[in-house]
Amino acid sequence: MNLHELTIKKAHMLLKEKEISSQELTRAVLDRIDAVEEKVGAYISVAGETAMAQAEIADKEISQGNILPLTGIPIAIKDLMCTKGLRTTCASRILENFVPPYDATVVKKLKTQGAVIVGKANMDEFAMGSSTEHSGFKPTHNPWDLARIPGGSSGGSAAAVTADMCIGSLGSDTGGSIRQPASHCGVVGMKPTYGRVSRFGLVAFASSLDQIGPLTKDVTDCAMLMNVISGYDPADSTSVPEDVPDYTVFLKHGLKGMVIGIPKEYSAAKGLDPDVSYAVKCAIENIQGMGAECVEVSLPHTEHAVAAYYVIAPSEASSNLARYDGVKYGYRDKNKKSLMEMYKNTRSKGFGPEVQRRIILGTYSLSSGYYDAYYRKASQVRTLIIEDFKKAFENCDVILSPVAPTPAFKIGKLVDDPLTMYLSDIFTLSANLAGIPGMSVPCGFSSEGLPIGLQIMAKHFEEGKLIKTAYNFEQNTDFHKKKPGL
Ligand code: GLN
Repeated sequence: MNLHELTIKKAHMLLKEKEISSQELTRAVLDRIDAVEEKVGAYISVAGETAMAQAEIADKEISQGNILPLTGIPIAIKDLMCTKGLRTTCASRILENFVPPYDATVVKKLKTQGAVIVGKANMDEFAMGSSTEHSGFKPTHNPWDLARIPGGSSGGSAAAVTADMCIGSLGSDTGGSIRQPASHCGVVGMKPTYGRVSRFGLVAFASSLDQIGPLTKDVTDCAMLMNVISGYDPADSTSVPEDVPDYTVFLKHGLKGMVIGIPKEYSAAKGLDPDVSYAVKCAIENIQGMGAECVEVSLPHTEHAVAAYYVIAPSEASSNLARYDGVKYGYRDKNKKSLMEMYKNTRSKGFGPEVQRRIILGTYSLSSGYYDAYYRKASQVRTLIIEDFKKAFENCDVILSPVAPTPAFKIGKLVDDPLTMYLSDIFTLSANLAGIPGMSVPCGFSSEGLPIGLQIMAKHFEEGKLIKTAYNFEQNTDFHKKKPGL
């Protein structure tokens, strides 16, 4: 048995039965990282020593009969969630040496459960991107084909899960950054409802869209991680004081009575790869075959989602990133003649080209004289997209669609073509604009052997329906069992 290949559930059972120790499990994961990290590049920081120390504490707890579902389980954290005493860079040169004095709420929750924090995963700088090529340090490679991107921006978190370099991970999703890399790497990823998971200690990109969520080897593990990270947090004013169900309750057979909606606009989307279209069609038939009823729904404003998102997200980013001025955090350019010059040099050298592009775009669309034409207009489109979903969910429980229009593309293909890269987010952005939960579950492989994900979306706070649909589909298929031959 290769311990690094275990799921959270299986590892938990073996720890509980004392067949393995957390130190053995953590060592196996660290050895696996040593063996493949050079090829994959999933981590910015590996916290080997502290991870082993946390594993030792977990083993002590377990020996005294204190075991919670995540006790002793090695988890990777996207490098934009603050970890006390452990460097948190957001994959940006500007935060290269930033060591947070506190833990993000999600990290604190994991630690309280006794989870082992194995390291900080690579990402696009400040989560801006769809390929992890915009990391200020290095690209991450897709373990299924090292010449390809793993998706982004949580590319490190997704690659680490599929390559067994952690047992599960956390990512963040502002416009698809959990679901799209999950799809490209053949793992399960969930973006919860806006407000379901505390964002305290998550470095902000676009505050009205950002959500933290799990990336895991299967749907059961997704439910287990959701149980730990969800819930109201007084430290995050956008977190919602709603009761959190036990998500593992939704891991049960049967889809009878479930109504699935298929948006008619999505199959007509430009640039949809035939392998993706076929895999999603087969997945829909499979789900129907388990007793779910299928109806057509309409999301007519989808075509404007990319334009609206790429005004709203950069606008919020331009405001959130104003704090990196060389005074309060991280990098400061020393060759300055004046304060203004120090600001300018720090930001020009500290931020990479994609982040600078977003700041310029956002500053422009918020500036006086352009605000009405861009930001206000985009916010109005956002309202129309919310209305589309409200209407669609009057007739169905969940909506199914592709996650990304194509399987993972080659590294370098779109890095100098931001517009095409932005357009590839067409299927994922709407869920963030509307604040609803969305999930990616493996649903097939392309003719070149690359993973393809199925997206499932539901109404606010109905993550349970996503888990139920995904679980039944997973039980009926074996895509999640395949491993990349690294
Ligand atoms: N690809 C989108 C962007 O570049 C979404 C990123 C994300 O969800 N963090 O903004």
